[in-house]
Amino acid sequence: MLIMKFGGRTIATPERIRRIAGLIKQRLSQKPVVIISALAGITDLLERSAFQAVSTGKVNFVPIYLKHEQMLEKLGLDPCFLEGLCRDLEAAGRGVSLLKELTPRTLDYILSFGERMAARLFAAYLSKQGIQAEALDAYAIGLKTDSNFGNAHPLASSVSSIRKRLNRYRNTKAIPVVTGFIGKDKTGEITTLGRDGSDYTASFIGSAVDAEEIQIWRDVPGVMTADPHLVKNALVVKSITLNEASELVYYGTGVLHPYMLAPAVNKGIPVKILDMMNPDLPGTIISNRGDGKKIKTIAYKKDAVLINAVSPEIFHHRRLVTNVFEILTRHGVFFHLLTSSEISVSFIAGAETPALQKALREIKMFARVDIMKNKAIICVIGEGMKDNQKTIGRIFGGLSALGVKPEMMSYNPLKTNMAFTVGNKDVAKTVRKIHNIVFN
Ligand code: ASP
Ligand code: MG
Repeated sequence: MLIMKFGGRTIATPERIRRIAGLIKQRLSQKPVVIISALAGITDLLERSAFQAVSTGKVNFVPIYLKHEQMLEKLGLDPCFLEGLCRDLEAAGRGVSLLKELTPRTLDYILSFGERMAARLFAAYLSKQGIQAEALDAYAIGLKTDSNFGNAHPLASSVSSIRKRLNRYRNTKAIPVVTGFIGKDKTGEITTLGRDGSDYTASFIGSAVDAEEIQIWRDVPGVMTADPHLVKNALVVKSITLNEASELVYYGTGVLHPYMLAPAVNKGIPVKILDMMNPDLPGTIISNRGDGKKIKTIAYKKDAVLINAVSPEIFHHRRLVTNVFEILTRHGVFFHLLTSSEISVSFIAGAETPALQKALREIKMFARVDIMKNKAIICVIGEGMKDNQKTIGRIFGGLSALGVKPEMMSYNPLKTNMAFTVGNKDVAKTVRKIHNIVFN
């Protein structure tokens, strides 16, 4: 079986839906299991409307109904086709507005409508195109999760029932169109797997049925060697490992979280990120096998804050480090790129949030704190960073020729990445320079 996952942006317009129906049609002999997430923007709208219903007492899901009606109409389907679900959603909204209460459980129930509507709409369209398809709620084929609403994890015990249910489709003409993102807990309440959780569904179901391949379809060509907005000749990265993928998650490159991929990848099932606009290109494959000593990509994140805490008075370096990170953790501040000396500790925070300000106020009680804003992290990723002193030397040589001074740096013994900070304004030229050195 072949898992084909389509998310928000790939099903944003009727043209795109027609296009992916075509992609599925070409792969019918591979027995596709389609995983679908909500239409573009719908999960956000559902969330916003739900919170509005609590705060204002007014229910307004109309834009959501309209989007689906228009989509149905443009695809030549009955615009009233999803009326039943719309009615259920409306009732949920009324409940929230009356009780003025939105529990994580109710929010998950409301968010689930996006995927439930999309799967039905999409299956109906496939059927109309002569591709027999059945919309299935993931929980109806046995996807059970824990009760961690908003961030639930599928239970290993659901594997066998998912396999049994989907195996039936191996010998039928019909293809299953399964909702991503949602499941049910032991008591039968709907849960969600967290934002962008459809990829997790795809990976979980793929590993349950021992799929021959898991395809995550996007509207980009895959992971790129650098941001193509900055580097015109950026290339598609052919393959990345789970370790490399982990490094990339923080940089928002659209790579899936490795814990979502691990079940499939560790079974040796290829997970591919493919481009719906160029379906014949190989895309990026995620595997757990290294592929030699390569540098894969250059990522960056702007608008970070560099913080330096110095305390010559605290003689025990360990105490300084422990105190600082205890405080950051207590305030929920995420930090990156740690370095320390005997009297100082430095780190990067993603942004200057109120939580960070509170934490720094506490740190200032025992250390001098310097704050440097408008910083960017540049990260060169690839297991090839290992034993690649020459390239590293060339990178720093290149930067000094550019007049760019890297500030904080981190390069650990695992060496799947090397990261350093520069000023925001130097990001474009730095990324271009490194790309040139590494890939040309
Ligand atoms: N529709 C959900 C979201 O927008 C899940 C997903 O897209 O994977 O987060
Ligand atoms: Mg999404």
